[in-house]
Amino acid sequence: MKDNGRILAVGAHPDDIEFNCVGVLARLKAKGYHIVMATLTPGDCGSLEYSSQEIMTIRRNEARAAAELLGAEYYCLEERDLAIDYNTATRRKVTGLLRTADPFLVLTHPLNDYMMDHEITGRLVRDACFGITMPNFGVPGGEKPTTGGVPYLYYWDYFGQQDMYGDPVPVDILIDITDTIEMKEKMLACHESQRNWLRDQHGMDEYLESMRRAAAARGAQLGVQYAEGFRQHRGHPYPADNILVKILEQ
Ligand SMILES: [Zn+2]
Repeated sequence: MKDNGRILAVGAHPDDIEFNCVGVLARLKAKGYHIVMATLTPGDCGSLEYSSQEIMTIRRNEARAAAELLGAEYYCLEERDLAIDYNTATRRKVTGLLRTADPFLVLTHPLNDYMMDHEITGRLVRDACFGITMPNFGVPGGEKPTTGGVPYLYYWDYFGQQDMYGDPVPVDILIDITDTIEMKEKMLACHESQRNWLRDQHGMDEYLESMRRAAAARGAQLGVQYAEGFRQHRGHPYPADNILVKILEQ
């Protein structure tokens, strides 16, 4: 797969991308890459006070504002929280997104995580990387298959950096985000509805502080202040050379 200058990050909910890989996206943006951010849902369950209609509107705007800070495009696939299914309809929909974004490199949730929306999103994206080039696999918007081949696929870190059994999970790629942590924090702060909710619950700015703690923990492993961790999908037919590290080392 050739570097076509286009990168896609897909999260289940608004703020997942910001928590997990926006430090790296900001570094890629600074190198001139076109960044597309997409979420499967508009975060319709992310509130104790607003109706799902109200919070969806709020959170779509928050996600768009964060993407605008980075100079990225934003798409919402309008699935619903706790109701993301791995079925043929969603497989076609996510494949359509990938064809529209036309990325050579994709980032998403790891296939094991603390909640099913995340795991299912990871599977849908993994699957769509495969279907992106296949002309006989139809998608709802009729987007044409891409011609560049299966993109590079990276899974970001596990929440809390541990698996569902509480065991630490290895990430084999650590990327220094010390220079972009401020942008990451600004983008995360765009998600005010979530930040305020946690602030009320914890009496402190846990939303931003938990992000800094996680980035500092991975940073310590790399010997820098802040880092993000990833694993690469290296099985056939996904390209297996570590293009992300190659790009960012240049
Ligand atoms: Zn999420």
